[in-house]
Amino acid sequence: MSITRITRFGMVNAFLVEEDDGLTLVDTTLPGGAKTILAAAGRLGRPIVRIVLTHAHQDHIGSLDALAAQLPGVEVAISARDAKLLAKDMTPEPGEPADAKLRGGYSGAKTRPGRLLAGGDRVGSLEVVPAPGHTPGQIALLDTRDRTLIAGDAYSTLGGVATAAKPNPRMPLPALATWHRPTALATARALRGLDPARLAVGHGKTVDAPGSAMDRAISRAEAG
Ligand SMILES: [Zn+2]
Repeated sequence: MSITRITRFGMVNAFLVEEDDGLTLVDTTLPGGAKTILAAAGRLGRPIVRIVLTHAHQDHIGSLDALAAQLPGVEVAISARDAKLLAKDMTPEPGEPADAKLRGGYSGAKTRPGRLLAGGDRVGSLEVVPAPGHTPGQIALLDTRDRTLIAGDAYSTLGGVATAAKPNPRMPLPALATWHRPTALATARALRGLDPARLAVGHGKTVDAPGSAMDRAISRAEAG
């Protein structure tokens, strides 16, 4: 496995993904995390060459500006849809569900992405998988080497594997920050369909062989 999890406050994750040319950082945790993240990269002995954001919530983009300032030339990538939210443009897009609502913290960042991602794009060994619902433009990332799925907040594992479509009583925050639950449920099913070998998420530990736990989480969300 070529992915290292960085955890802050026991509940907010970022990931360092090893590639031939250096490290891809997936998400940046809350503000104040740059030092911890750079130290983790230092322990791996590799430079961070790109930053990919699964979505624009503050607990994923919070240390982006600080990291970009300390990593000159780093490539920053996010979906086109969540790039708007990163720039604090909260206007909906044509065709989005009328009952969708932006929830959770969108603090925005000064850093502008140099690359806008769409489904099927590759970021090193990672394949971009659309994962809308928690936010309108969330993406997941599938490591094509070992089928580790970095799911952003489409799933959480803190207090048990859960989807973003239904609050987990033991860790309700990801679902409470969800933009549109029916879309989040459709994404949970689509990600399950990838049959990941490992599920890595924004909140909680990485789970090996997650298929049956994902099935149960989907069933609970379907039950309403
Ligand atoms: Zn989130």
